[in-house]
Amino acid sequence: MKILVTGGAGFIGSAVVRRAIADGHAVVNLDALTYAACLDSVASVADHPAYAFEHADIRDRAALDRIFAAHAPDAVLHLAAESHVDRSIDGPGEFIDTNVRGTFTLLEAARAYWERAGRPGAFRFHHVSTDEVYGSLGAEGQFTEATPYDPRSPYAASKAASDHLVRAWGETYGLPVVLTNCSNNYGPFHFPEKLIPVVILRALAGQPIPIYGAGENVRDWLYVEDHAEALLEVLQRGRLGRSYNIGGENEARNIDLVRMLCAILDDRRPEGAPHDRLISFVADRPGHDARYAIDPTRIRTELGWRPSVTLEQGLARTVDWYLANEDWWRPLLARPGVGARLGLAGAT
Ligand code: NAD
Repeated sequence: MKILVTGGAGFIGSAVVRRAIADGHAVVNLDALTYAACLDSVASVADHPAYAFEHADIRDRAALDRIFAAHAPDAVLHLAAESHVDRSIDGPGEFIDTNVRGTFTLLEAARAYWERAGRPGAFRFHHVSTDEVYGSLGAEGQFTEATPYDPRSPYAASKAASDHLVRAWGETYGLPVVLTNCSNNYGPFHFPEKLIPVVILRALAGQPIPIYGAGENVRDWLYVEDHAEALLEVLQRGRLGRSYNIGGENEARNIDLVRMLCAILDDRRPEGAPHDRLISFVADRPGHDARYAIDPTRIRTELGWRPSVTLEQGLARTVDWYLANEDWWRPLLARPGVGARLGLAGAT
C-alpha cells in the first residue's frame, strides 16, 4: 500500500512512518516542518526506496493537488496538526487554521483525486484525532465511540471540528473515511515540550518538575509504537465510516506518572536521586480536563488490537531512550520559543 502520511515529521507521524516502512508499505511523508517537526525522527528510513518526503502545507491546495497527482497514494493517514494544548490557549488562531481549514483543504484535495481516479472503493482517508474531543470524565466511566462531543480547549475544539468535517465528507460525498480517537501518547521522539519529556529533561537538569494543580488529573497513556501499529490496523481493516477509540489501558494520575518517572531515573542516575524532591506544583491549566479514559472494546473485538506494553515498561523504555539520544533532543531546545518556554534553554 502507498500511504500519504501528513505530519510524518512529528511525534506520532514519525512512528507511523517508521512502522509502515518496516511493514513493507510505501510512504509519502507530507509535512510543513513547523517548530514541532523533526526530520531526524525519520532518519532511519530516509534513504529507503519506499520513502519519499514532500515539504508542503495541508492548507496549500495547489501543493496537495500536485502531490496527489505525482504519487497516486492508495490511502491518506492524516496526522498533521497543531497539537500542544498550552499553545492553543496562548494562541488559538493557528490551531483553527491548521486543524480545521487544513483538514478541509486536505479533504477537498483527496476528494478531487479520488473522484478523478473513478472513486475507487479501496481508497481510505484515515483521520487521526484525540479523546479530548469528548471532554472530561468524573471518577467513573470511559469514553466510547458514542460519547457525545464536548471539547473544552481550543485544541480539542479544533480537532472536534476536523472530525465533523471528515464524517461529513464521508456522508455527503461518499469519500471512504475512517477515524481514530486516541488517548495521550508517549515514547521515543516526543517533542521536549510535552509532559513526559519535560519531566525527564528537567529532572536530568536538576530543575523543578512542574505539575499542574495537585497532579490529580488522570490520563490513559498509550505507547506511541503501539499507537502506530493500531493506526495501520485501522487503516487497512477498519470499517468505513467508523470511528475507533484507541487507548493504552494505562490510566494514571499525573502525580503518580511523575513519581514513576522519578523512580526510573533514580535507578538509572542514582547520583541525582531522589528525583521526586524536584516536584513542584504550579497553577492549574485553565479548563484542565479532570480525567480521560478510553473504552477500547471496539478496536479489540473488531480488529483484535490491544497495547503490547504496560505503562511501567513503556516509561522505562522512554527514559532509556532520552538518556541515549541527547543528540536528538538537545538541538530542539535551542529552537526559538522551545527551550526558553520550558526553562531548559541553557540546561545541561
Ligand atoms: P506533533 O505536533 O508532534 O506533529 C505534528 C506534525 O504536523 C509536525 O511534524 C508539523 O510540522 C506538522 N504540521 C503542522 N501543521 C502542518 C501543516 N499546516 N501542514 C503540514 N504539516 C503540518 O503532533 P503529534 O503529537 O505527533 O500528533 C499527531 C496527530 O495525532 C495530531 O493530529 C494530534 O491531534 C493527534 N493526537 C495526538 C496525541 C498525542 O498524545 N500526541 C493524542 C491524540 C491525538
